Order: sequence, then C-alpha cells, then structure tokens
Amino acid sequence: VQTETLAAALEQWARLLGGECVQHDPALLSGAETATFATRQRIVAILQPGSRAEIADCLAIANRFRVPLYPVSSGKNWGYGSRVPPTDGCALLSLSRLNRITAFDEDLGYVTVEPGVTQRQLFEFLKQRQSRLWMDATGSSPECSLIGNAMERGFGHTPYGDHFANVCGLEVMLPTGDVIQTGTARFEGSATAEVSRWGVGPSLDGLFSQSNLGVVTRMTIWLMPQPEAFEAFFFRGEDGDGLAPLIDSLRRLRLQEVLRSSIHIANDYKVLGGIQQYPWAEMGDKTPIVPVDMASFRKKLSFGYWNASGALYGTKAQISEAKRLLASELRGQAGGLKFLSPGKLQIAKRFAGAFRTFTGWDLRRTISLVEPVLGLMQGEPMTASQALRSAYWRKRMPVPAEPDPDRDGCGLLWYAPVAPAKGDIVTKLAADASEVLLKFGFEPMISLTMLAPRTVCSVISITYDRGVPGEDEKAMTCYSRLHETCTRGGFFPYRLGIQSMSELPEPPVYTELIRKLKRTVDPGGVLAPGRYDCGSSER
Ligand SMILES: Cc1cc2nc3c(=O)[nH]c(=O)nc-3n(C[C@H](O)[C@H](O)[C@H](O)COP(=O)(O)OP(=O)(O)OC[C@H]3O[C@@H](n4cnc5c(N)ncnc54)[C@H](O)[C@@H]3O)c2cc1C
Repeated sequence: VQTETLAAALEQWARLLGGECVQHDPALLSGAETATFATRQRIVAILQPGSRAEIADCLAIANRFRVPLYPVSSGKNWGYGSRVPPTDGCALLSLSRLNRITAFDEDLGYVTVEPGVTQRQLFEFLKQRQSRLWMDATGSSPECSLIGNAMERGFGHTPYGDHFANVCGLEVMLPTGDVIQTGTARFEGSATAEVSRWGVGPSLDGLFSQSNLGVVTRMTIWLMPQPEAFEAFFFRGEDGDGLAPLIDSLRRLRLQEVLRSSIHIANDYKVLGGIQQYPWAEMGDKTPIVPVDMASFRKKLSFGYWNASGALYGTKAQISEAKRLLASELRGQAGGLKFLSPGKLQIAKRFAGAFRTFTGWDLRRTISLVEPVLGLMQGEPMTASQALRSAYWRKRMPVPAEPDPDRDGCGLLWYAPVAPAKGDIVTKLAADASEVLLKFGFEPMISLTMLAPRTVCSVISITYDRGVPGEDEKAMTCYSRLHETCTRGGFFPYRLGIQSMSELPEPPVYTELIRKLKRTVDPGGVLAPGRYDCGSSER
C-alpha cells in the first residue's frame, strides 16, 4: 500500500472512530507485531470499532483503499501467532469493545455473545445470576474471548469441550459489509435461532471458522446444565508403553458413553511444566531435561510417565456406576486411580494444616495444583498466572502476577496433530514427536486429549526463552520438522499457527473451491489475507 493511500485510509478511519480508537503509535504497533515466536509482519494501525455499523464502515474504507484488515476478538492466540496477521501490512481490527452478552436462557441453556466477551465475563455473568448452567473454559487466560476461541475450534474440559460443536446462529459480516445469519437465525421471527444448529439447506457455520470469509459479530453458545453429581478422576500410566492400553480403554469407555467429557493425558514433561519453571539449579543450567533426568523428577515429585484426568457428570447413580466401570476397565493397566469430588477437596483443604502436623506431608501444594483443574472441569476459568505459568517454563524471571507471554519474550509454538483413538497409533505419534523435540534440545511436552470418542488431539509445545540468541530459529526449524514428521504419518493438525497456514498439501480442486468462495465474498481481498490461506490472492 502506497504511503499516501495508507495515510488517507488512516485519516478516514480516525474520522469514523475517533483518534483514540485508531492507534498507530510505534510502541503499540510493535507490541501487536510480537508473538511467542519470531514474526516479521508489520501492522499499519490498530482499529477499535465499537459497533457493527462501525465494523461495516471500517471494511468499506479498507475496500476503498485496499488496506487489508485482520480481525481479532481478544487477540490472545498465544502459541499460534497471538495478534499477528499472517501477512504484512494489515490493520488490526480489534473487536474487544463489542463485549455485550445479548441473550441468555436458563431453561434452554444458551447465551449469545459479541466478540469481546471473555471467559471471565461469562463466568461472572452466570455467577451473578446464580445460574445452574456451566460454561466450558479453556486452559488459557480468563481474558481470552469466546468467539476467537470458537473460530479457531479450540477446546476445553467438560462434555461441552468441543467449542465449535456447541455454537450456533452465527451473525457474520462479510468483507463487503453485508450481514448474514446462519442456521434458522436468518429467518425473520425464527423461534429456534439459538437452539437449532443446522437450520435448513446448506449449513454455512463451518465456512466462518478457521477462515477469512467473514467477521463474526455475534454467536450463540450452548451451556451445560449443572449435573446432580460431579466427580473428577486421575490415574497414571507408569511407563512409555503403558499409553496404548490406556487409550484403547478410554476409547471403549467414550464410545459406550460411560465417559462423556474430554479426557486429558499429559506426559511427564507436560506435568513438570505445569507445576514449576525450568529446574535450572537442579539441572546445573543445562538443557534439555533428557529422559533419564525426567525419571528422577517423576520419582521426586511423584507423578507418572502418563498422567490422565477427566470427570464424571450425571446423577449420583450414574456416577457410581461409571466409577465401577472405569475402575474395572483400567484394572491392571493404570496406577493410582483416584476420584475427587468438590466436597472431598473442601475437607482436604480444611484439614491440610493438621494433616501436615501429624504426617509431615504438605497437602497444600497438591491442593493448590488440583483445585484449578477441578474448577476447569466445572467450567471455571483459571487465573491468568495459573493458566500461563507453563509459557514461562524456560524464562529465568518469575511468572508475573499479570502475565503476558508476548511482552515477556516467552517462546511458545504449539503443534496440534490429531490421531485416531487407537493405542498403538497414538503411542507412535507421541514417540516420534518426543524424538524430534529432544533432538532439537527442547523438552517434549505433550498432552493428548480425547475430545471425541474416535480421535485423540495431541498438543505438543515447543517452549523456550526468546531472549536466548538462536532459540527462535532453532524452535522454528524444530516446528517444521515436527510438521513434516506428523503429516508424513497421516496426522494433520486441528488448527494452525500463522507461520504455517499455507503449508498443507491441499488438493487443487479443494483450494480452487475455497478461492472461488473467497473471490465471491471478498472481491477486494481485504479480510485477513493468508489466514488458513483460504484462497488469498497472494498464492
Ligand atoms: C498456556 C496456554 C494454554 C492454552 N490453553 C488452551 C486451551 O486449553 N484450549 C484452547 O483452545 N486454546 C488454548 N490456548 C491457546 C489460546 O490462548 C486460546 O485458544 C485463545 O482462546 C485464543 O485467543 P483469543 O480467544 O484471544 O482469540 P483471538 O486471538 O481473538 O482469535 C483467534 C483467531 O480467530 C480469528 N478471529 C477472532 N475473532 C474473530 C471474529 N470475530 N471473526 C472472525 N475471525 C475471528 C482471528 O483471525 C484470530 O487470529 C492456550 C494458550 C496458552 C499460552
């Protein structure tokens, strides 16, 4: 974009939104151009519209001057690119000022939100109303948006953990400024706009997730009725080979609907990264922690090679039967199966002091680690410092009270390949990923989530300190190797970082269809060019 053209666009945006809602101060722009890995893209301005009409006008100006816009809801897409657009020269369209909860129904269990509504806001909204509905929260910051996460098809912990599977009635502004509603929300006077996902005719919702075809300005999220009973469970696989039978057992239990929510299995590295920062002193400043060192951390801190957690939701009778079936299925395969209800946790908290006096065992640390997990399983977001601790793994600074991984130079790249829920296949994926990370000198932190009965989504993190020279480059090479290894094995990611949005081997006929759609809805090519490379004109 020519300097004069950009200046004219900036002037029109400022006239539209007011100067304070069009930022181009170099320090602010540089913050927004920073992610948890190296990026080179420049942002020309940050626009903060306050209404749908203003979004439409921002788009009109973008089309007039051909300056592309990159929409973010809260812009905390850490590990996948944060707020940074995949291509150079975009203005950031920050939607955080549109933060109203516009509808709520306790009986039908839904809430309708705008893009700026955060996990914290919804949690507090439900609490204030003494609602008996639970939201589903991610393990990220409470300040993350609901719409941004759902648009990336992110996930959480309860039976409603697959976020995009539990939304409907999207209101979408197309790059031309036209607004459409999906499902039956498009019919005047529809009685089922918030409760019917498919509507009638072609279902369009999916076109607007992981794409650049529209700006989602409103969305209905389904909420889970609080069950009569809830109990968490935890168990371990004590060695690397123990994973396959666990996956096979969990698949059977998920398919039979004995288990109805996401089950998370974290390897030892992931657990260590969740409870503390890098043990620099114990490791004599050496990186990475190799498997033999990890074995001694497992012993010292008493966690397993594989560490599973999940929860049971239902009536008391359902839970008691599910506990019996779970214990019977895992017999001889898993160690340390424990059940924990919120009531038992309260008792443990009350007696932790006395317990320590008599046994010398400090339960409080265990409680402080388990309590937020139990909260997540009941739809309560963690605090930012609990959630973001793992991003500071290799940093030598303590985790700040108000963490910001972009600002603090935390290095983090997620890679999230999906595998069929078969023990031997998942074991091979985890072993191959570990080998790649260790080869590059990073701890292979891996979590495996059985979000649906037939698939396991692994989230592999490359976590490092961006302040150490050379680490950015090494981490990116490691990421590319991981991507090659996984896709060669047939494991494609459920979501992508901005650095790899055009690296999948798309069949030409598929790409062409997406490009045709893109050209139709965005003839000026002004919305998020390069995002999931949905036919961006650059290709
Ligand atoms: C320690 C840690 C733990 C994490 N745990 C989880 C987890 O458990 N589950 C999980 O899913 N993620 C997790 N994340 C990743 C990430 O932080 C979350 O997914 C977060 O919700 C995404 O950021 P956001 O909500 O601010 O979305 P945004 O950054 O606002 O949006 C994400 C992308 O969606 C698109 N988008 C956003 N809003 C719109 C819109 N209105 N219309 C059209 N397109 C839009 C944009 O292109 C944007 O880049 C974690 C990250 C860290 C660092």
